[in-house]
Amino acid sequence: MRRLVPTRALLFLISLIAFELMPSSPTFAQVITSGPPSCPGVALTFDLCPVRTGSGYDQPLMDYLITHRIPATFFMSGKWMAKHDVEVEHLLGLDFFEVGTHGEVHAHLPMHDADEQRTEILGPVKMLQAHYGHKASLFRPPYGEYNDLTVAVVKLLGLQFIQWNIESGDPDPTLSAGKILLRIAKRVKPGSIIVLHANGKGKQTRQVVEHLTREILPAKNLRPVTVSELLDCTSRTP
Ligand SMILES: [Zn+2]
Repeated sequence: MRRLVPTRALLFLISLIAFELMPSSPTFAQVITSGPPSCPGVALTFDLCPVRTGSGYDQPLMDYLITHRIPATFFMSGKWMAKHDVEVEHLLGLDFFEVGTHGEVHAHLPMHDADEQRTEILGPVKMLQAHYGHKASLFRPPYGEYNDLTVAVVKLLGLQFIQWNIESGDPDPTLSAGKILLRIAKRVKPGSIIVLHANGKGKQTRQVVEHLTREILPAKNLRPVTVSELLDCTSRTP
């Protein structure tokens, strides 16, 4: 019996290697950092990483997004979900929101082997399916960290690997709302994916999102869309 474990691990590695050797095809896992540049949409994405202190839920930000029905995508970690059952249920029930996953314990994936990465990635995917009947296909790695193995595992699991091309820097306590907005305004363009946080880590996030959706995006003829809408988007006008 003791031999079964290494054999299983070996088979898994062989399947990964075989996969790597396959000729590339349009379905090969890609790390997505933006949508089509012809799309007049921008994806506002909010990571829900676990927090040690505080509620872990940015109520003022969420109230703003919900009141104004602003399309947004949330990447939930398993540890965060375990403490926010009511919020998970609520967010899943809103049709202008999209929910993806962000690892089970917010691990540094490149420090782990394939099997451990698989367990970390699958945790919240299974939880969303089992407890909420929600199939989450979008995945964002904790800290945005990954290696080739991560890309292969994500592909094998049939998930879409979503990063960003604009880092708001919202959890940085030294950045004012003005500085964050300036940083976003300089970079934002059709098809952008912006990473923010909705776990209360970003003290300026609500203010940033208000200015962004009321002023900066409309001035550039851009509108917020979910990640899936962004990826499906063609050159339709807003
Ligand atoms: Zn995170």
